[in-house]
Formats: sequence, structure tokens, C-alpha cells
Amino acid sequence: MAITREEIMGNKQALTRLEIVASMKKIVGEEHVITDEQVLKESSVDRYRKYEEYSGVFTRPIPAAVVKAQNTQQIAEVLRFCNENGINVIPRTGNSALESMLESTRENHIVLDGSDMKKIIKIDEYNMQVTCEAGVGLEYLENLLREKGFTTGHSPQSKPMAQMGGLVATRSIGQFSTLYGGIEDMVVGLEAVFPNGEITRIKNVPRRAAGPDIRHVIIGNEGSLCYITEVTVKIFKYMPENNKYYGFTLENMKTGFEILREVMVAGFKPSIARLYDKADAAGHFSHFAKDKCVLVFMAEGPKEIAEATGNGIEKIVAKYAECQQVDSSLIEQWFLQLNWGPKQIAEEREEIIQTQNMGFTTEIASNWETIHEIYEVCCKRVAEEIPDITWVGGHSSHSYINGTNVYFVYYYNIVDCPPEEEINKYHNPINKIIVEEAIKHGGTMVHHHGVGKARAPWIKDEYGSSFYILKTLKNAFDPNNVMNAGNIIPVKFLED
Ligand SMILES: Cc1cc2nc3c(=O)[nH]c(=O)nc-3n(C[C@H](O)[C@H](O)[C@H](O)COP(=O)(O)OP(=O)(O)OC[C@H]3O[C@@H](n4cnc5c(N)ncnc54)[C@H](O)[C@@H]3O)c2cc1C
Repeated sequence: MAITREEIMGNKQALTRLEIVASMKKIVGEEHVITDEQVLKESSVDRYRKYEEYSGVFTRPIPAAVVKAQNTQQIAEVLRFCNENGINVIPRTGNSALESMLESTRENHIVLDGSDMKKIIKIDEYNMQVTCEAGVGLEYLENLLREKGFTTGHSPQSKPMAQMGGLVATRSIGQFSTLYGGIEDMVVGLEAVFPNGEITRIKNVPRRAAGPDIRHVIIGNEGSLCYITEVTVKIFKYMPENNKYYGFTLENMKTGFEILREVMVAGFKPSIARLYDKADAAGHFSHFAKDKCVLVFMAEGPKEIAEATGNGIEKIVAKYAECQQVDSSLIEQWFLQLNWGPKQIAEEREEIIQTQNMGFTTEIASNWETIHEIYEVCCKRVAEEIPDITWVGGHSSHSYINGTNVYFVYYYNIVDCPPEEEINKYHNPINKIIVEEAIKHGGTMVHHHGVGKARAPWIKDEYGSSFYILKTLKNAFDPNNVMNAGNIIPVKFLED
């Protein structure tokens, strides 16, 4: 049973915003507490509510302060203070979140920002691992490692923005996942702080069988159990000279899913394995694929492995007469401009303001047996049931031996709709269709963006009887519900 704020605090008066700010200044220093009104407004939302933000409308609770912690000790002190005073804390590092993870469900909260914690603590070239603070940007780290001949193998589209703490907290995945895995396959050890101020460190070992793997309490917690302050991830040899790119056009998604499955089941490990439907391919590959689906592969690693992987994939695809191979340089060029940073965000903002045409994505995963059906049903239902849709489609971008994901992409015109209604008129109903179809077909409602507050209403359906474990974790580690309250688990589900 979750405890209400009144139960924690008794008759103790809630602190005012000014008192919260003064206390934060004492802990982290005056210069590290931001109270600028515009910054606070922008810190009340993430990209889930980008239309409201672009329209200058802010409907969520505005934080009392953005607190820029400089070290683990300060994080511990801030958390302890907030825990004792019932103040909701929104952990943040790179600020690239989607799914309303950075919104607060409570007034007078703080954003605890770790983006100043930027130390790369150790690049251990012999044991092939790197340790860094939570605020180290992935792009910065990756570029540094590449200069030394190494790579993290992690390359989410948000690489120019995302930072190590957030990447671990969201259970993120990158474009080379079919070879390197998601962040959960890369994390070796961690340091994290719990709301009572307890600092815990999970040591760096290649594997251990000493009970449950407690890294998984922390990875993917979305700031709702603890604050990640330090991360150690594996590193790999970087051999871009051996990269091989492959692209094929084809007529339909069913064949595409079959090919992806065959490649995975045969045991090949391309770093990239992607399948775009016609609608989505039109936005990426219109210069060579008119009204076609597109399959993309990349093979990497030691020369012999990259070549064998590429040859194996070409042999499999060659069995399908409808597939036409395209020049590999087209795929390489496309791939090099796939990532999004502040420039692309600014361009998108301009476009949305000018056109009132809005794009979003929802990603799910399921096994091979059901994925095509989920893809078909969702595209059909969104096109039929949602008003003002301009297009809906998607791609598969992360495959496994037993299934794959679909990353649905959809655009709609915003018609006769005030900014604060956009979410309810368009985005949430689309999410609902996709989430419910994925769960109904035995899949998962979220492949990599995280649950946030946008998909939290379905968390019991997603977990089934294992919701008991999730709820028990939350109640054990954050009994006062001050860590991103309502994220992953809606507050009312904790009270049941
Ligand atoms: C254009 C674009 C492309 C994207 N592409 C991908 C992709 O390819 N793959 C992918 O997986 N995701 C992708 N994302 C989603 C997002 O970038 C990732 O979830 C990323 O891991 C978030 O990292 P961040 O540092 O920006 O975290 P933030 O945005 O700061 O926070 C994200 C969540 O983690 C929590 N959090 C942040 N830091 C900490 C911490 N130190 N301790 C505890 N909790 C913390 C926050 O409370 C929040 O719930 C994309 C987003 C955008 C905007």
C-alpha cells in the first residue's frame, strides 16, 4: 500500500517554492539552482508534449527549480531532503526523453539535473570497459573512444543529445543492436543513489551468479526508483573500414519480416537489420524506392566476419524474387544522416509551427508469429479511426532470434484543436490503439522509448501477474513516492 504525502508528512506543512529553492541552494550552491521562468516552463515537459511547448502553452506543473548537481554526494543530499519533505523529484540528464517521463504529476517538484557530471573516470583498454559519470554525452564519449580505436556499440538516433545516466535509466537501444544488444547488454556496473540518500555501487565483473542480477533494478527505472550517478559499459574494437552496407527493395512487409526472421534464425549477426514499409520508406529512400518497401542491413566487425555475414544475408535475400538489390553507397549515405540533434529538433519545430502537421512514433515488439498481424491491424485502425491522419506506417529496426519490433510512425494535421487538446484528440488515441493491439497479440507495448506516464495506464496489462514484482520494488525503494511519481506506475495503482 503506497503512502500518501499527508501520511509521510503528518501535519508538517508542505514547503513553499521559495523554501525549496533556498534549501537546494544550500546543498548544491546558489549558482547551480536555476529559477529562470522560461527554463522552468521548458523543464515541465518533454517531447511528448512538443506541440504545447512549440505553441508556448504549458499545462503541467512547473518545477520550483532545476537543480544542477555536481557530484554523487549532492545527489544523495538532495534526494534525502526531498524524501523527508515529500517533494517530487524528476531526474534528468540529456533531456531527450519522450513519453512524458519528464513531466511531474505533483506541484512544487524539482528537476534534478546531472548533466554537469561529465567526468570520464576511466577508459580501461585492457579490460575493455569505460566508466563515466551520468552526464557524459554519448556522442562525446563515442567520438573519444573512436579516436582510440574503440566503440561503445551504442548508437540510438538521439546520440547527439542523450547522456549515459538517461540512456541506462530508459533501457535504451541503438541502431547496431542486432550485434551489440541494448544498453542492458552493455552495462557492466553502476553507482546509484536511492531516495533515502543510500549510495550503492554494483561492481564491474564479466558475469556473476551471486543471486538475482540487481543491475536490472536500476536499468530502465526511468528515474522512478533511484538516481544513476556512474555507469561502466563495455567497449569494442572499432573497425569501420570493414563495414558493409546492403539495401533491397521489395513489395510487401510480410516477405520482409520473413527475410528478417530467416537471417536471425540462420545465426547471422548484422549490426543493422531494418525493414521499412512503403509509407515510411517514402520519407527515407524516395530517390531509389518509389512505392516500395526497403530492407537495410549492415555487417561489421573483423573483415572475415563482416564478409561472411554480408554474403550470408545476400544469399538469403536472393531466394526472394521480389527483392532488388540497390547500390550499397545509397544505404551508407542514408545511414550517415540518420541521427537527430538540436539542429533537427529546431527544424522540426519550425515545420510544425508552419504546417500544423505533427509527427510522432510508438514502438512495440512481438514474436515472429504475430508481428505482421500487429503491424497490419495498427496501421489500418489508425488510418480509419483517427481524424486528420496524413500518413501512418513504420519500420522494424531491432530483430532477435524470436521476434522483432515495429516502430510505428504517424503524421496528422492539427485541425480546430487548441494546443492543450492535441494530445487527447490525436496522440493518445493512436497510442491506445497500438498499445492495446500489441498487448492483445501477446507482444510488449514498449520496445525502447520507455513507459513514462504516456503508457503507464496499461502497465498492469503489460505485466500481468508479474506486476506484483514491479509494484513491490517501487514500494520498497521509494515508499514515499518522491521519485518521478506516476512514472511507469500511475499513482492510483500504488494505492490499490
Ligand atoms: C529524436 C529522438 C530519437 C530517439 N532515438 C532513440 C533511439 O534510437 N533509441 C532509444 O532507446 N531511445 C531513443 N530516443 C529516446 C531518448 O533519447 C532515450 O530514451 C535516451 O536514453 C534518454 O536519455 P537522456 O539522457 O536524454 O535522458 P532524459 O531525457 O534526461 O531522461 C529520460 C528518463 O530517464 C530518467 N533519468 C534521466 N537521467 C537519470 C539518472 N541519472 N538516473 C535516473 N533516472 C534518470 C528521467 O527521469 C526520465 O524518466 C530518442 C529520442 C529522440 C528525441
